[in-house]
Amino acid sequence: MSASIEPSVFSRIVAREIPADIVFENEHIIAFRDIAPKAPVHILIVPKTEDYRDVTELAAGDPALLAELIATAQQLADQHSAGEFRLVFNTGSSAGQTIFHVHAHLLGGHLPEGTLGN
Ligand code: 5GP
Repeated sequence: MSASIEPSVFSRIVAREIPADIVFENEHIIAFRDIAPKAPVHILIVPKTEDYRDVTELAAGDPALLAELIATAQQLADQHSAGEFRLVFNTGSSAGQTIFHVHAHLLGGHLPEGTLGN
């Protein structure tokens, strides 16, 4: 569960306190373009709840929501990157996580060959 008192940047996007290029939204999930894209298509897919800091907490706490997030990734990739994509969950600061409100990076378009990172 989240220990933070302030809403996360992503909760502030959900609340429309911070503008974002939103490409998908339903009751549980919001998706918007990353402000600093690392690929031709770089969309963040975010559960609206900030109860889960990272993907391992989400998998343990609400596997159905994780499955919905992944189905959303496929839907967005169908619309934005010919159905193919890389999904990245940075988990922990040494792995590059900076926002501790679980989110997936959907990367698509022509990604450089031979790399796993973004
Ligand atoms: P992390 O480093 O936690 O895996 O990913 C956080 C991502 O959020 C980064 O790729 C960063 O560019 C993006 N980001 C941070 N602040 C904002 C913002 O205000 N708007 C948008 N659209 N993306 C943001």
